[in-house]
Amino acid sequence: MKVVLLSLLFAMTLWADAHIFVYHRFGDSRYPSTDTTKEELKRQFDYFRTHGYKVVPLEKLVTSLKKKKTIPDNWVVLTIDDNFKSFYDNGLALFKEYKYPFSLFVYVEATQKKYPDYLSWNQLKEISKYGSLEFHSYAHPHMTKLSDKELEKDFTKGLNIFKKALHVEPKYFTYPYGEYTDRVKKIAMKYGFSAIVNQNMGAVNKYSDIFDLDRNALVGKTNLKLLLSFKHLRANWIKPTTFPKNGVLKALHVEIKKDVKSAGLYISGNGWEKIPVKNRQINITLNKKLKKGRNRVIISVKNRISTKLLIKDKYGTE
Ligand SMILES: [Zn+2]
Repeated sequence: MKVVLLSLLFAMTLWADAHIFVYHRFGDSRYPSTDTTKEELKRQFDYFRTHGYKVVPLEKLVTSLKKKKTIPDNWVVLTIDDNFKSFYDNGLALFKEYKYPFSLFVYVEATQKKYPDYLSWNQLKEISKYGSLEFHSYAHPHMTKLSDKELEKDFTKGLNIFKKALHVEPKYFTYPYGEYTDRVKKIAMKYGFSAIVNQNMGAVNKYSDIFDLDRNALVGKTNLKLLLSFKHLRANWIKPTTFPKNGVLKALHVEIKKDVKSAGLYISGNGWEKIPVKNRQINITLNKKLKKGRNRVIISVKNRISTKLLIKDKYGTE
């Protein structure tokens, strides 16, 4: 998390659009970077409660977005990726106590093949009394490494088993590892989900793409106050839209809906810098080597942010 850097840029707390959060493991000290301790979870829930935040089901947020309604600033949506046993053992009780709804995204193969760290179908059915069960792929693959055919196979197989075992149709989808490109997104959208949530920092308002909703991770060391202060920046990404050739980012062209003279630019592994904005356009040349297979480019205007994920796509066009 680049939260420390971000907090230097805008240390402020205010009401700001809706926020979707994602958890993975609970009270599982073997994996500190994807874990939320029971104490931390309670601190977060107390923070929501004492600061007037309303935890609503993902469904409520998506319904409002579809109706183009203004989204209340105090809405929070809680999601959990991967059907780990630790949620059942160390998380569920607190969600029940606070009556906080949640959506849990199921990695189907892990439950189907009874992998030791994962919940059983019966446990998932029990959990579904308190929250919704959603889809997180069959085999939890790195989707950008799969061909269209291989992707379709994973979706079809996973959805069939999910529906047969749980007798419900998942409405929402999230990508394994938060990795996707336009090609992967297009295929995911063929399966009729009502919305897709990603794993990019940010907030949600009526201008958000319901098939690309930003979701903040609440794992390891996080700054909840800072994440809650983010607002959604309306931005039209013209360049880049895909991982650039040879991994060098040469140009940035983004239209933003804010009349400002400068914005912040963050590129994974490159840190933050200030860039000029003219007539609501960011149009600059760059020479930035992308250092990772998965890179985030973030534009910020005060506490408003917009993120573009740039990831190598084995079957995509550059
Ligand atoms: Zn996952």
